[in-house]
Amino acid sequence: MGQRQPLLGNPATRRTGAIVKAKILLIEDNAQNRYLTTFLLEQHGYEVSHAPTGPRGLEMAATVRPDLILLDIQLPGMDGHAVTRALKDNPALKQIPVIAVTSYAMVGDREKCLDAGAEGYIEKPIDPDTFVAEIERFLRPATGEPAP
Ligand code: MN
Repeated sequence: MGQRQPLLGNPATRRTGAIVKAKILLIEDNAQNRYLTTFLLEQHGYEVSHAPTGPRGLEMAATVRPDLILLDIQLPGMDGHAVTRALKDNPALKQIPVIAVTSYAMVGDREKCLDAGAEGYIEKPIDPDTFVAEIERFLRPATGEPAP
């Protein structure tokens, strides 16, 4: 771990001949969760942007063009299921992998996330020892790039 530099599948952020770290958009309303998640991702070299609400997350997805979206489900106003559906209904954004961050206690939430179109889910509370490896499974390696 630590030394691994993920390759990108997002042509918008790929640079010829260079390995660029992935951009991750975190949509999460809880400041403590944002802090821990950001800390872990930045420690592994990822570029993290945040949005505290669903509508702001949708705006930022369009401007930042992240390689991956980590999405809290329990958000005020527009919940994570609605955010997922809005992302997947948008032809410009639907190819970005969405990983729902679901509460372990919320029965049926994971299935609802997948039904809404999320590529995967991670349970909260996140495990700092395995979190980064879990999300890396959803970052697509770029085609035609040399292996690290
Ligand atoms: Mn929340």
